[in-house]
Amino acid sequence: MSRYIGPVCRLCRREGEKLYLKGAKCYSPKCPVDKKTYPPGQHGQMQTRRKVQEYGLQLREKQKARRIYGVLERQFRGYFDEANRLPGVTGEELLRLLERRLDNVVYRLGLAVSRKEARQLVVHRHIAVNGRTVNVPSFLVRVGDTIAVRDGSKEEPPIVAALQQARGRRTPQWLEFEPDQMRGRVQWLPSRDEIDTDIAESLIVEFYSR
Ligand code: SF4
Repeated sequence: MSRYIGPVCRLCRREGEKLYLKGAKCYSPKCPVDKKTYPPGQHGQMQTRRKVQEYGLQLREKQKARRIYGVLERQFRGYFDEANRLPGVTGEELLRLLERRLDNVVYRLGLAVSRKEARQLVVHRHIAVNGRTVNVPSFLVRVGDTIAVRDGSKEEPPIVAALQQARGRRTPQWLEFEPDQMRGRVQWLPSRDEIDTDIAESLIVEFYSR
């Protein structure tokens, strides 16, 4: 599955808020969202006063969610269709599917400073699920799955640095984490209030239900 490889800070500026796509820089004064409060591009400064219509709000929310989780449109639409088939509330099911992605879980466990870095760790075969190497970032974890850094990868500098940086970060309750073992476990699938993401999922449902 392909991915966006352009400059990521532009994506935050487009949404007008921090999407935390870059790790340490996102928490520093160097974050461009704090310095430039207008959208990117040649005409960005002229767009600040434009009135956003209902459709625009829905579109922006969908784009924001895609960018936070690093998913391209086609795959995101697939998640929505899958969420629509599930028995629960569609918006919540959509977020739950996104949270279950292996790259997201690696990030949530604090093994990477961003989802982008988590994706790299997965693709480069540093992560195992239930003892078997998985190199597919979109792999969906299930209840009871164990996610661990492979034995040969435990000294990898990005992982060690991420764990140090994540020390103050709280692991979500639905995940159990043993830092010494660099291993986590899915205890249950998260409810909406356990998903710490500032997304109005109802706008995304409205967008696809037009
Ligand atoms: Fe977004 Fe992080 Fe770049 Fe700030 S530093 S614009 S939060 S990716």
